[in-house]
Amino acid sequence: DNKKKVLKGVNAEMEQGKLYAILGPSGCGKDTVVKTMREKHPEIEVSVSATSRAIREGEAEGVNYYYMTRETFQQKVQAGEILEYTQYNGNLYGTPKHEVDTRIAQGRTVILVIEVEGAGNIRKLYPEALTIFLLPPSMEELENRLRSRGTESEEAIQGRMATARREVEQAPLYTATLVNDDLETCAEKLYQMIREYQKG
Ligand code: 5GP
Repeated sequence: DNKKKVLKGVNAEMEQGKLYAILGPSGCGKDTVVKTMREKHPEIEVSVSATSRAIREGEAEGVNYYYMTRETFQQKVQAGEILEYTQYNGNLYGTPKHEVDTRIAQGRTVILVIEVEGAGNIRKLYPEALTIFLLPPSMEELENRLRSRGTESEEAIQGRMATARREVEQAPLYTATLVNDDLETCAEKLYQMIREYQKG
């Protein structure tokens, strides 16, 4: 079927480049770590995801996400344009195929910044992908970070914490883990992991 065809195409392209994903619970700092790494290493490209969630203040279309209705999102899934997706806290999030395939075909390095369930799918579809699980220094610290964002209701925070507790149990399934205690150190370690993998 269509989905299989799309994935077959991507697998062929995978031979020319490597796929990287950083995953971890919401609030553990994936976006900040990747942003910090890219200040020194801008050649590492980030895949921009599609989402049905509302745009937050300070975010921009095509920069943080491609924002769309659930209906449009589902149409894209049907059309085979979404590589992996998940439902998270009531919203859909997914990796558009076009964010990944052309870059990989050109030998560019692209990293997905995604939650744990979607990363599980990437791990199964691309066993050769480097998947790095980012852990918060502690669960208390994670809750503090979620709260200090000030963008979420108490219910949403509790929802994210419940999901996070289930997710961290899965960390050993991934290629590597990284603890986000010191931002600069963590960003540099991430870069080193990517480089090591590129060489190997
Ligand atoms: P937020 O609403 O905080 O921007 O994102 C919620 C969660 O969805 C975060 O853990 C984020 O990394 C994840 N996420 C963002 N884009 C994608 C995607 O394309 N696929 C998957 N599986 N998760 C994503």
